[in-house]
Amino acid sequence: MADKAQRLWHPFADMSRIPGHELVLARGEGCWLWDDVGRRYLDVTAGLWFANVGHGRAEIADAAAAQLRSLAAYSIFDRYANEPALALADRLAAIAPIEDAAVFFTSGGSDSVDTAAKMARRYWQLRGHTERTVIVARTNAYHGMHGFGTALAGIPGNAAGWGQIMPDVLHVPHDDHTALAAVFAQHGTKIAAVIGEPVIAAGGVYPPVEGYWKQVRALCDEYDTLLIADEVVTGYGRLGSWFASDLFEIRPDLVTTAKGLTSGYLPLGAVLVGPRVRDELWSAGAGMFRHGYTYSGHAAACAAALSNLDILEHEDLAAQVRRLTPVLAAELDSLRGLPAVREVRHVGLLGAVQLAQPEQTDTLVARLRERGMLLRGLVGHSIQISPPFVITETELRKFAAVLAEELTELGR
Ligand code: PMP
Repeated sequence: MADKAQRLWHPFADMSRIPGHELVLARGEGCWLWDDVGRRYLDVTAGLWFANVGHGRAEIADAAAAQLRSLAAYSIFDRYANEPALALADRLAAIAPIEDAAVFFTSGGSDSVDTAAKMARRYWQLRGHTERTVIVARTNAYHGMHGFGTALAGIPGNAAGWGQIMPDVLHVPHDDHTALAAVFAQHGTKIAAVIGEPVIAAGGVYPPVEGYWKQVRALCDEYDTLLIADEVVTGYGRLGSWFASDLFEIRPDLVTTAKGLTSGYLPLGAVLVGPRVRDELWSAGAGMFRHGYTYSGHAAACAAALSNLDILEHEDLAAQVRRLTPVLAAELDSLRGLPAVREVRHVGLLGAVQLAQPEQTDTLVARLRERGMLLRGLVGHSIQISPPFVITETELRKFAAVLAEELTELGR
C-alpha cells in the first residue's frame, strides 16, 4: 500500500484487481454529478437509490446546517426529544401506509431491518408464543448488511461463510404465492413474520406479479402473522406513491425505510410501527424491548428529512414520477429483442436491463461511464436504472438512446 489513493476500502469492489479508486466525485446538482477534473455524469441510479430529490439542494443543506449549529444531536433514549425528531415522527405517521403508526428512528436501512426483525420476534415472545420464531424471507431479496438482514437476504452469497447468524429463517421464491402458501401450510403457527421488498431492488429489480402482495397479506392474516415491508428503496415516492404498500394496496404491520427519507443528505432510517406491535411492546414495560441506536432521532438528520419531504410535496415529485413511469417503461420495452438483452423489468421510476451475456455487464457499465452516465451492475447481471425524480423526460430519453446504442454495439 503505497499512497493515500489506496487507503480507502471500497465495499463490493475487487480490491485485489484494482487497488485505489476509479473516479472521484466532487459536486452534484439535480441528476448531474461532476468529477474532480470537471467531467459531467448523469446519475442514472440516484447513487445507491437515495438521491430522489436530486443533488445539491441548498434548502436541505441549509436546514441541516441550521440544526447542526443549534443542536446537532442528542440521545432520545431517556425520553428526551428534539423538535425535528418530534415533527418528523408526526409527519411520517401522517403519510405511513399504516393507520396510527409509531416511528422508531434508526441510522439507515440495515438498522431498520434489524429493528423490525427484533420487534417481530419480541412481539410473539411477549404474547407467550415462544414457538413463533420463523421469519420468512424471499429469494433475491436484499435486506442490508447487519446480522439479521444478512441472514434474511436471499441473494446467493450474502450469508455464505458467516455460519448460522439467525436461526429459523425460511426462504421462498420471490414471486411464488403457491410456494409461500405451502410454507404456511407446513409451518404457519411458527411463523413470526414475513419480510419482503415490495419490489426486489438490489437483487435485480423484480416487480411483483399481479396481486401478489394482497395474497401475501391474506396469508399473513389467515395465520395471524406479521408482515414487514422493506421499503428502504421503494419508500418516499420511487413508485409514484409515498410507499409501494400504497400502490399494491396492502397494510403492512411494520415498514422499514431509510435512503429516500433524507434523499441521502444525512444518514437516517425509520421503522413505521403499526399499533398491533407498538401496543404489545409498549405495554410490556421497561427493558422488554432493549433496542436503539446512538443516533436514533439525530436532530440534524431529522431536519434534513423534513426539508426533503417539503421538496417532495411542494414540487409534487410523486406526480413527476408518475409522468416519467410510462416513458421509462416504453424506452426499456423497446430494448426487448436486442441480442445483448435477456430481459427488461420496470415499475415506477425503477428499472433494470438484464444482459444475455453476464460478462458484458461490467463492459456496459464502463462504456456508459465513458459516455457520461453513471450506472452499476446488480446481482444477476442486470444494470440498475433509478434516476433522481427530478430527471427530465428529455434527459431520460437521451439516456435511453445511448443505452440502446451501447446495447446494440454489445450484441454485434
Ligand atoms: N433494505 C433494502 C431493501 C435495501 O435496498 C438496502 C440498501 N440497499 C437496505 C435494506 C440497507 O440499507 P443501508 O445500506 O442504508 O443499511
